Amino acid sequence: MSILKVNGVKKVYSTRFGGNRVEALRNVNFEVEQGEYVAIMGESGSGKSVTAYSIMQILQNPGRVVAGSIKFKGQELLGLPHHQLQKIRGGKISIIFQDPMSSLNPVYTIGNQIIEAIKLHPVPRLTNVLKRKISTAKKEYDNALNLYKKKRSKQHLQALSKARENLRHAKYELNNYPYNRALEMLKLVGINEPAKRLKQYPFEFSGGMLQRIMIAMSLVCEPDLLIADEPTTALDVTIQAQILELLKS
Ligand code: ADP
Ligand code: MG
Repeated sequence: MSILKVNGVKKVYSTRFGGNRVEALRNVNFEVEQGEYVAIMGESGSGKSVTAYSIMQILQNPGRVVAGSIKFKGQELLGLPHHQLQKIRGGKISIIFQDPMSSLNPVYTIGNQIIEAIKLHPVPRLTNVLKRKISTAKKEYDNALNLYKKKRSKQHLQALSKARENLRHAKYELNNYPYNRALEMLKLVGINEPAKRLKQYPFEFSGGMLQRIMIAMSLVCEPDLLIADEPTTALDVTIQAQILELLKS
């Protein structure tokens, strides 16, 4: 199935001075199938970034897509209301930028920023399991409570306190989901001692590590489409290879 279908896209920038219109994109056509990597190549200024931003519909001002269509899983993205776009952006489509330093906020810890992203776009596949655990534990607690009220035995009291402990634990797990998921994502992108790392600020990381963190952040929501706009240009050659390997895995 086609995940992304870009058809006849034309984008113009109207400059403030002289009224000249820059045609940044002219008749852009390509498709991305599920499970496929597509590379867009071209010299500097040929419109690679503008294409990426048009798909995400970010950083557009003063540009405007004046023709064509951008379909994500069959749904037209152009002209979609803001709140619907917001759900798709970072929920179903993620982007990694060239310079990880400029994508992260220097005054917040890495943990703060990843956890924020996780809270914004929880993965139902994972949170539903935790919610089901809570409702099962709640039922068991209610049963234990009823039994204890009837029997008033020490044995039933013990069962009740065990059920209460289980319920408490299940709730704790859901509350801790963002933190645990952040730890798991950092491990996934090869960052050691993730608990310690979450407490650190962007300046305490190398460029390669920051880009790993950006990749982790772009994947927290399990997107269907990941757009990478020259994700390795700002990095050393050896680190570039590692990041490409990581993206592939
Ligand atoms: P690439 O990423 O391939 O190096 P870009 O997508 O950044 O190229 O830019 C493509 C063209 O879009 C540029 O040559 C420029 O003319 C135009 N462009 C991009 N942003 C703006 C803007 N804010 N105002 C005017 N023109 C712009
Ligand atoms: Mg670019």
